[in-house]
Amino acid sequence: MRSTSEVTRQSETLEKKLDPLLTSIFGADTVEYQRYLWAVTRLDTATMYYNRDTHIGLVREGLRLGVATSRAHLEAIKAGFLGELGDAGQTPAGTGGQMSGYDVAQVCLNGHAVNARSTVYPESNQDFCSRCGKETITSCLSCRTPIRGKLLDSGLMLSAYHPPAYCIKCGNAYPWTEATLSAARELVDELEDSLSADDREQLKDSFDDLVSDTPRTVLATSRFNKRLATKAGVGAASALREILVDIVSETAKKTLWPGS
Ligand SMILES: [Zn+2]
Ligand SMILES: [Zn+2]
Repeated sequence: MRSTSEVTRQSETLEKKLDPLLTSIFGADTVEYQRYLWAVTRLDTATMYYNRDTHIGLVREGLRLGVATSRAHLEAIKAGFLGELGDAGQTPAGTGGQMSGYDVAQVCLNGHAVNARSTVYPESNQDFCSRCGKETITSCLSCRTPIRGKLLDSGLMLSAYHPPAYCIKCGNAYPWTEATLSAARELVDELEDSLSADDREQLKDSFDDLVSDTPRTVLATSRFNKRLATKAGVGAASALREILVDIVSETAKKTLWPGS
């Protein structure tokens, strides 16, 4: 027969394991994470209401209830996840058009995703970014087309959200893409000790093809590697990686920085 404190300790250990699980599914501090944190990780329901001397039977019953609720929520998350995988197969990202299936995203000018479902969860909207203080926008500054957020109709949205690099309507770079690219170009301009003028221009030209998947992306990654890793040195290479890693395409990322 185990004691009350043993059962409580056991449930606390389990709760500690569930928190990082939710973080890994939803991303830290996302709307979805906050929504499920309470329901999923609060296993020991009895000790919330009774004091330390709670009868072992009550603790067991409370824990049983907590685990059942948590399990039900995790099952719902799993179902939503499978649903989203199905949706992803039918509507591959980057096919353009069809705004209707997506919510509108709210993104700060530096590219931090503030709310990937701004119409479904308007209470999570912010005029300014809590991470960098920049203004937030929900549409393209050039053509006013809404920024594509997460899929609307798949119930739970479990994948991490990355703001798009370019407007799907007018093709202009979003402010964060533009800011990142110009920061990267400025850095290259400062590498005049190690790179020739020609090298610097070619390197800068490669950036556009790193951000979006184009027929020239592979060529761009090879130029990037040749010009940079070999000539400009490790310091410059890692500084550029820091700047560009969030906006380069998946193809470029896999080639340039596998594992990131
Ligand atoms: Zn920001
Ligand atoms: Zn636009």
